[in-house]
Amino acid sequence: MSDCIFCKIIAGQIPSKKVYEDELSYAFEDINPAAPTHILIIPKRHFSGLNTATAEDAAIIGHLHLVAAKLGRERKIEDGYRTVFNVGPRSGQTVFHLHLHLVGGRDLAWPPG
Ligand code: AMP
Ligand code: ZN
Repeated sequence: MSDCIFCKIIAGQIPSKKVYEDELSYAFEDINPAAPTHILIIPKRHFSGLNTATAEDAAIIGHLHLVAAKLGRERKIEDGYRTVFNVGPRSGQTVFHLHLHLVGGRDLAWPPG
């Protein structure tokens, strides 16, 4: 999608700090980290968010979580991290290309704000 900031990051048109990439997904450091580890894991194929997901998206949604688990192991934050999809404007979603937040490396409060 030509006007999507995350599609531009995947295409290398906007710089990012890449932490992982495979044929289906791309992961990079959040520019405004909310915790010592704050990584965004995105599908290379554009879709806007969980609220538009269909059965065809089951594999990529699972894949993003497995990438998060791998990065959580690598960052040694397995004693407490969170994976989050913000879905829709009321949740705080600002970028409408599906992205899984991996947040950890500090104590995390519950419930979230
Ligand atoms: P959300 O609020 O769930 O839509 O999350 C969007 C996230 O993207 C925020 O945490 C932003 O800090 C992050 N973000 C926006 N632009 C960039 C960028 N160019 N590089 C890295 N992270 C970004
Ligand atoms: Zn996109």
